[in-house]
Amino acid sequence: MANLDEKICIIGGGPAGLSAAMYLEKKGYKNYVIYEKLNKVGGKCYSPLIKVKHNGVEEEKSFETGAIMGAITYHAVSEMEEFGGYYHKGPDFKPGEPNMRREFRKTTGEVDHPFEPKVNFSFKKLSGLLKLKKQMKKLNKLMQTKYVGYDCYGHLGIAKGEYYGISKGVDGYCGATKENSFPNYIKGTNPNLKDLALPFAEFCKINGVEEVQRIWIAPFTSFGYGFFDEIPAALVMKYLDVTTALEFVNMKLWTWQDGTQQIYEHVNKKLMHPAILETEVVKVERPDGKVIVTVKGKDGKQKKEEFDKLIVTTPLDYFAKYADATKEEAELFSKIIHERYCDYIATFEEGKSPVISGYLVENMVPEKLGHAMVYYNRWQYLENDCPCTVYALANHTGTPDVDYDVVMKTMDEDMKKVGFPIKEKLYAQEVYYCPHVSSKDYADGWYDKLEALQGNKNTFYAGEIISFGDMEDTCAASKDLINRFF
Ligand SMILES: Cc1cc2nc3c(=O)[nH]c(=O)nc-3n(C[C@H](O)[C@H](O)[C@H](O)COP(=O)(O)OP(=O)(O)OC[C@H]3O[C@@H](n4cnc5c(N)ncnc54)[C@H](O)[C@@H]3O)c2cc1C
Repeated sequence: MANLDEKICIIGGGPAGLSAAMYLEKKGYKNYVIYEKLNKVGGKCYSPLIKVKHNGVEEEKSFETGAIMGAITYHAVSEMEEFGGYYHKGPDFKPGEPNMRREFRKTTGEVDHPFEPKVNFSFKKLSGLLKLKKQMKKLNKLMQTKYVGYDCYGHLGIAKGEYYGISKGVDGYCGATKENSFPNYIKGTNPNLKDLALPFAEFCKINGVEEVQRIWIAPFTSFGYGFFDEIPAALVMKYLDVTTALEFVNMKLWTWQDGTQQIYEHVNKKLMHPAILETEVVKVERPDGKVIVTVKGKDGKQKKEEFDKLIVTTPLDYFAKYADATKEEAELFSKIIHERYCDYIATFEEGKSPVISGYLVENMVPEKLGHAMVYYNRWQYLENDCPCTVYALANHTGTPDVDYDVVMKTMDEDMKKVGFPIKEKLYAQEVYYCPHVSSKDYADGWYDKLEALQGNKNTFYAGEIISFGDMEDTCAASKDLINRFF
């Protein structure tokens, strides 16, 4: 029987922490605290307001430094929207709304049309596209048959050929029915699922669908989630399950007028106990069934507080630095790898900014590490007056990392070559991004080992590592955690 009076500490006021609080409240828990080290909630959903001038008129607009988009498969995020009373725009955007239109460009600046057979027609292009279409169909079928069970949140059992989790399926889409759609749990045995531990490129090869990487690469690699020769297929297919991938292809995406940060600001305002800001958890001790948390407030003073349970939504690879991590925790968490994703918001020389977002697919390969892969023009009606966000990855297994300063300079040069010379950077950052484990550790049952630790020392783990580094997977991981353990 759940004890609804338990005192629970949540570390982190990002999507994972706030959704954990929301789902706790929905279950009747009232006694929780969220500690957030920054002066705002939302974590990597940070949407600063920036002044822009268009046709002589100055106005303030939201820009994105982190999360931008969602899709019909964003069920847990929809529950956050409902709770906070703040909703997405799209997939059909009206004038004055941010939109998700984009084009492809070569790194020389030339507009490319890789998926339009009639533009720059050649028989080679046509046959390539026909092959791609056939393989897309094949993959869709394989995921519904050979890999049944792949599309639930999280990775429980996959390394053993089993699956268990909340379904991501959308009733009526890609073979899903009411029974095997969100928010139902799906469960079963399917030895083929072990293939999902393979790097995505290898997974495609053994299934004879190598061409589909051309579709998946733009929304995956350019969004900082890593390269297909190293990232386990499970991560790719759980984020970009066939329904979500098709929504990307068909441009049926969502975005938020005042930015994704506002989803979490709105939720935070409605919570019984909004996050305590500018308060960093600096120590966690767990003697004799207790959880003692030390926090440092904005006055720099430290304070100790005792809790019954702890929910950690922050990077687990750093947990051992401030917590009394057990040998098992320390060992397991040391296997976590993360991406180094860099981005900046910049203005452009007069009349030379992109008027639409763009993918630079040639730069989405490890050989082009540190190069601009995508740029995002959020307010396309501002035409040449719109600042854009530009993105690059700085790491790849087996390749030396690229220094932050070099990445920044390389992106500037790339944008100039494409025809969009940067004038001024308004914001720039490197982000701890997409924590995951290697194919080897995945196949070795890393996620089942993590599951075995859930609840030990009254500690529970949530956040990006559980399923995937996007808003939906992190919020759904919190939902699942609260459903199963509280
Ligand atoms: C450039 C970029 C683009 C993205 N695009 C998308 C997208 O289009 N769609 C999508 O769905 N997702 C996208 N994401 C991913 C999404 O933003 C993240 O997956 C999501 O924010 C993860 O939520 P989280 O709560 O697990 O972690 P975070 O968002 O990282 O939040 C963790 C919070 O914990 C706080 N914290 C850390 N340590 C402590 C401590 N010791 N004490 C107290 N507080 C602490 C941090 O300050 C932070 O607020 C993008 C991210 C980036 C950076």
